Amino acid sequence: MTVTTRFAPSPTGRLHVGNIRTALHNALFARQHGGTFILRIDDTDRERSTAEFDLGIRDDLDWLGLKPDSVVRQSDRFDLYEREFCRLRESGRVYACYETPEELEVRRKVLLGRGLPPVYERKVPAAPVPEGRGPHWRFRLDHSRPIEWTDLVRGPQRFDPTLLSDPVVRREDGSWLYLLPSVIDDVDLGVTHVVRGEDHVSNSAAQLQMFEALGAPAPELAHEALLVAAEGKLSKRLGSIGVEEIRGAGLEPMALLSLLARLGTSRPVEAITDLGELAADLDFAHFGRAPAHFDLAEVELLNARLLHRLDFADVAARLPSGASEQDWLLLRGNLERLADFADWFAVIGGEITPPELGDDERALVAKAAEIAPTLDWSNEPWKALAEALKVSTGLKGKALFHPLRRALTGRESGPEMAGLLDRMGQDQAVARLAAAANH
Ligand code: GLU
Repeated sequence: MTVTTRFAPSPTGRLHVGNIRTALHNALFARQHGGTFILRIDDTDRERSTAEFDLGIRDDLDWLGLKPDSVVRQSDRFDLYEREFCRLRESGRVYACYETPEELEVRRKVLLGRGLPPVYERKVPAAPVPEGRGPHWRFRLDHSRPIEWTDLVRGPQRFDPTLLSDPVVRREDGSWLYLLPSVIDDVDLGVTHVVRGEDHVSNSAAQLQMFEALGAPAPELAHEALLVAAEGKLSKRLGSIGVEEIRGAGLEPMALLSLLARLGTSRPVEAITDLGELAADLDFAHFGRAPAHFDLAEVELLNARLLHRLDFADVAARLPSGASEQDWLLLRGNLERLADFADWFAVIGGEITPPELGDDERALVAKAAEIAPTLDWSNEPWKALAEALKVSTGLKGKALFHPLRRALTGRESGPEMAGLLDRMGQDQAVARLAAAANH
């Protein structure tokens, strides 16, 4: 069996972290099995879907590195839906209904008032068609046996179909609701695994019967627990965190994906630089049932850890010109964002502001400015400088190193001084020490 997954967003907005997580799990699962990952644009709602969001979603996936193997658009597939719909109508699995929303609401209240589940009551076929009304269409659920499946995340699932309303699949104006086209597409595209949020569990119950009615085997189903904002409630804010925000904050796609791949699973969240590694590790059996808490601060933390692990080749194209592998290896451990590299690179080769030093510190730095020109720079100059100063001033530890660091880098802390001195070269170091001593 060739594994085929699909990610099926509606182009009514940009992707947020919840969608991105679903897309990621679909992409990873397909990759793990050498299968196909399809992007299905669910644009049956012509009023709310836009070409901008359609493009935006594809851009978002590209930036994340989750480029699909193919893209299909539901609005291109209405003929197929029509054909399958006719088939189901002829076999009696979809049927015409004429109630208005108001009438349905009255029936719902009556049933609830009687302590009964507010399930749609099928009309007897012979009921007269109300004058002037066109039909909308429902799928007839088979009430003869329970709907059961073993969900890859949630385990055994069982629904009593008599407690479900026959779902509306098509409106009076001929437009499609989500449920049936999705199943028709899954059959037509050979989708083997449907991975989506648990808000779709009861849809799945109805959809499993639709697969059967279309004469097709049902895919495996994996319904993942929802993602919630760290505060505990699915907040607007979570919905607003997407690629634009992550990218705008200067964070790496793999920092976000490293978190989303394993958040809410029993696997530890780690900074992983390679999608293949995340794919190899994916197992729905590791997914928890409780909502997973998303915290942007975790992405920031992972971003730093990720940068500390990245090789020069991974980032070379995005570094300032002239930056070498040695520079990268020296500086990467101090980066929280890749953009920080340029600041540190300037500390090596650019201008720095000489620090304000106290009298004792200035005397120490002046001494250093005398010694530095006499050192052999090819032979551990930092060690030699520190040794010489220790002897001549009697200072050691922080009292010795801190003023030197500030004079040489203009900063309070940073990468190891030995590496920095080596990279900045003798002339630059001597000039900075002299400038600080005379400031
Ligand atoms: N367009 C649906 C949604 O965004 C797709 C659900 C599915 O994966 O089947 O919720």
